[in-house]
Amino acid sequence: MQTTVRAPITLDGVGLHSGRPARLTIRPAVADHGVWFKRTDIRLGDTLVPAIWDSVERSPLCTRIVNAAGVAVQTIEHVMAALAGCGVHNALIEIDGPEVPILDGSAAPFVRAILDRGLRRLPEPVRALEVLAPVEIRTAKGWARLSPARGLSMRFHIDFDDAAIGTQEKTLDLSNGTFVRELSDSRTFCRQADVDAMHAQGLALGGTLENAVVVEGDRVLSPGGLRHADEAVRHKMLDALGDLALAGKPLLGHYEGFRAGHSMTNLLLHELFRNPDAFRMVEIDEDTRARLPGVNIQPQEIPAVA
Ligand SMILES: [Zn+2]
Repeated sequence: MQTTVRAPITLDGVGLHSGRPARLTIRPAVADHGVWFKRTDIRLGDTLVPAIWDSVERSPLCTRIVNAAGVAVQTIEHVMAALAGCGVHNALIEIDGPEVPILDGSAAPFVRAILDRGLRRLPEPVRALEVLAPVEIRTAKGWARLSPARGLSMRFHIDFDDAAIGTQEKTLDLSNGTFVRELSDSRTFCRQADVDAMHAQGLALGGTLENAVVVEGDRVLSPGGLRHADEAVRHKMLDALGDLALAGKPLLGHYEGFRAGHSMTNLLLHELFRNPDAFRMVEIDEDTRARLPGVNIQPQEIPAVA
């Protein structure tokens, strides 16, 4: 059956790019509501923004959604990944500013809060999007592909000149709490060389060595070092799960990203929905349910950093 959160969950922090403080509250919602954001700091007009693929506006370095009235929320990908990875299908996310708090740079604080509160089952079955034929996006930078699979699985490849990141590749089946165990605590990362350029563009104003892994050459500048040797590729998979959650339904398919990022994953969803023969909506049976993220999560599997 579909789920929502059992009770409201509130988290406070600052936005990674805007540097602005914000309070975010995840509220329960009814079946088939999906995930919506609501800007509580804006009094007039339509303040609801659907967390859906065609609300995404091109934006550097983060995922930003905007409604018809021009009301926007940005850096939604980590809370979206936490909801998808914990198997939460419906929620209303209130926020009193333009950007979701970055917290520790990973999805772990959201996951901890969601699992602490617990989920409520709703009286409607889960409907999922089953990928029936491969769809692909290629750019000069890399490519992303969705192909048929029985559950949700993912393969990701990155390569950076900085030896502290280098070449990393990982493949994961996202059933049985894999997201919580393997991906949720991996933090966003950047190169020290890019920090000044981002600041000049008014980006990363809330970034610190505590909420992002900063690397320079073969050195990790953030105190405490890495949480995983391949934390960077794990974080890219976390981002991809959050961006794929904008399909609006759980996906049954295999996602591959080669040097992919937020905009490429969103273009891939556009490509999927442009091809009606490439997918179908299916009602989930017990057997398939067991292959979705968020099923069979054991509380002791939440990383200790959360
Ligand atoms: Zn991220």
